[in-house]
Amino acid sequence: MERELTCIICPRGCRMKVALEGKEVVSVEGNACPRGKTYAVTECTNPHRTVTSTVRCEDGSVLPVKTETTIAKADMEKCMREINAAVAKLPVSIGDVILSDVCGTRVIATANKNA
Ligand code: SF4
Repeated sequence: MERELTCIICPRGCRMKVALEGKEVVSVEGNACPRGKTYAVTECTNPHRTVTSTVRCEDGSVLPVKTETTIAKADMEKCMREINAAVAKLPVSIGDVILSDVCGTRVIATANKNA
C-alpha cells in the first residue's frame, strides 16, 4: 500500500510517498530532509495531534484551550472527555494550565479571561 502525505514540519511542504507493508513503513520518498521521514513514519504508525477546544468557566462563559504538546490521535476522545468535564477558575491568562495531566500533556488557556 502507498500513502501520499504533505510534510507539515516546515513551510516547504514536501510531498511524500510512503510505502507500507501492513502497518510497517518500508520507504519514504520526496522528503528533502530527515525530519520529513520522521514525520511520515510517525503519521503512518502513531499519528499525533494538537487538540484545540474550549473549557467551561465558573461564570458560565467558555475559554479557548489547547494541549501544550501533541497527543496520540488514539487518545483524542479521552482528552476531550477530560476537557469537557473541566471548569476553569477565573481569572485566567494565556498559557495558564487548566488541566495538568491529560494523556501525558497539559491543557493550557489560549486567551485571557477576567473574573
Ligand atoms: S521534509 Fe524537511 S524540508 Fe520538506 S517540508 Fe518536511 S521538514 Fe521541510
